[in-house]
Amino acid sequence: MSEDHTPNLAEIRARYEAERVRRLRPAGTDQYVFAEGKFARFADDPHAGPLPERAPLDETIDVLVIGAGFGGIQAAATLRRQGIDSVRIVDAAGDFGGTWYWNRYPGLRCDVESYIYLPYLEETGYVPTERYIRGREILAYCQLLGRHFGLYERALFQTKITGLVWDEAAARWTATTSRGDTLCARFVTTQSGIFSRPQLPGIPGIEDFAGHAFHSARWDYAYTGGSTDGGLTGLADKRVGVIGTGTTALQAVPELAKDALSLTIFQRTPTAVGVRDNGPTDPEWFKALPAGWQNARRDSFNRIGNGEDVDCPVDDGWARFFRRMIAATEAVPEAERTPAAIGAAQEAADYEYNEIVRARVDECVRDPAKAALLKAYYRTMCKRPGFSDDYLPACDRANVAIVDVSGGIERITPGGMVVDGTEFPLDCLIFCTGFELGTTWAHQAGYDVVGRGGQLLSDKWANGISTYHGLFSRGFPNIFFMGLTQTGATVSVPHMLQEQADHLTWIIRQVLDQGKAAVEATDSAEAAWQEAIAGMNEARRPFQESCTPGYFNAEGKPEDRRSAIGSGMYFPSTAFFRMLADWRQAGNFAGLELR
Ligand code: NDP
Repeated sequence: MSEDHTPNLAEIRARYEAERVRRLRPAGTDQYVFAEGKFARFADDPHAGPLPERAPLDETIDVLVIGAGFGGIQAAATLRRQGIDSVRIVDAAGDFGGTWYWNRYPGLRCDVESYIYLPYLEETGYVPTERYIRGREILAYCQLLGRHFGLYERALFQTKITGLVWDEAAARWTATTSRGDTLCARFVTTQSGIFSRPQLPGIPGIEDFAGHAFHSARWDYAYTGGSTDGGLTGLADKRVGVIGTGTTALQAVPELAKDALSLTIFQRTPTAVGVRDNGPTDPEWFKALPAGWQNARRDSFNRIGNGEDVDCPVDDGWARFFRRMIAATEAVPEAERTPAAIGAAQEAADYEYNEIVRARVDECVRDPAKAALLKAYYRTMCKRPGFSDDYLPACDRANVAIVDVSGGIERITPGGMVVDGTEFPLDCLIFCTGFELGTTWAHQAGYDVVGRGGQLLSDKWANGISTYHGLFSRGFPNIFFMGLTQTGATVSVPHMLQEQADHLTWIIRQVLDQGKAAVEATDSAEAAWQEAIAGMNEARRPFQESCTPGYFNAEGKPEDRRSAIGSGMYFPSTAFFRMLADWRQAGNFAGLELR
């Protein structure tokens, strides 16, 4: 900071750069190990009962929906609403919910306002109990949607897709499953991958730990006691270690701190912890919301996220940060608004915001050494920002220690963890180390797709995904790739999934109505989309390169574009959604071949 406390960009950059470099690992994404092979048990389902007996299914349907999280629910619901009833939903989980099925760790909540996060609130009449609802309420809502849209009778749970092959002559996909099913489908939607496969740190000795170890997305309540609401009485005499301080740890740590004998947090990078300010929903306010309120609320939230200065009723940490960025842009005199000038103004505003967030640490944590460790030094959007009112006070507790592992954890031993030559004895080790996000699409999905002429998707997408509009890929007719796939990305993922569901449903309806057999992206349309995405990737690259490592920048190697997330997104999302709607309106199927 300079004398007058205006941030000096050169000083800020130097500080952030020093912190970034300390955390770089040469292996990038390959530093991790995944829940497969000798680590497969970390992905076992602790929630489902024994595998129910059922005969293998051999059936022909119009649409196979892979995944029963919000993507699958919204795709199936939207298809059914358009009269496309012959739908089969398949998921490895034991119920609807996706990420909310697997993640049940204590303290779990949505970090996006429930009024914009939960889809179909106007249709179901459901009133979320709080602004930021618990994970179990979201899971229950997914189940409610399953019933509301008649999806349970169309779902095959505890069933994994093992293969997907296109038959050009029949214009059908054939899917095989772990339960011996053969599902023949005209169309496939797939939302495989992100946030589903647990990721573990590739620390030497990880398999030697003799205490109890599990991943946050497969919480072991049989060991910890309690529930997602807390009360982890099984930990009263346990020395617990947590690796990872992302947004999952932010929610789980307060519950662990209350109940564990001791809690040691092995922190590589602190998360910036903004104000949460949760509270109950006022039912009178909710009842009085006018028709169409949810779309309008979601749209305005996206717009401010994209830098548009519009009224938005959402008033939370996300929105306040977005408004700061808008104000910083508008403070640049109009004649001087070059990308460089806007970038510098936003960088300074980001720094000021983070100074407030860092000052908050000092208000909540009495020990200055502990407080210093908890301050984040990187741009806000380098990582998913955190919002919590109880994480920092939990870190302040006497039974909670923070160990700086920015230089790396030396090894895991049968009895604990060794950092800088000191062994920290542990009874229980909890990996809050996130999900497999940096590997290829096929690796994350756990199955390959065989397209036209026997082409493998794992080959085509070995160095990154290639799509048209994020949904189609040449050589793979009649399959729609939902999720974070070169699409318009938003903070509220279900909103993005609904836009995708609307688009693919419209196209399937048209293909069926016109008596066509197949729809596929043209070479030239896909090439043009790749060029557009590449341009956006290049524009974002300096920012990504300046960021502390994380899954947003392929662990500090933005040039590693092999994953779906790493392959890029379309910005801004509102323009993307508008473009899809205009494309449907035009009705000429630009960029697609209908055969
Ligand atoms: P993240 O990937 O965000 O965080 C993983 C954590 O593990 C990081 O702190 C990382 O440190 C740490 N880590 C990994 N390897 C090591 C190592 N070798 N030594 C020390 N630390 C290590 O995972 P989360 O589960 O926290 O969150 C995943 C995503 O899930 C979020 O980004 C968010 O999108 C989503 N989420 C959403 C919620 C919602 O309400 N909508 C709630 C919770 C999560 P480092 O940063 O240094 O890499």
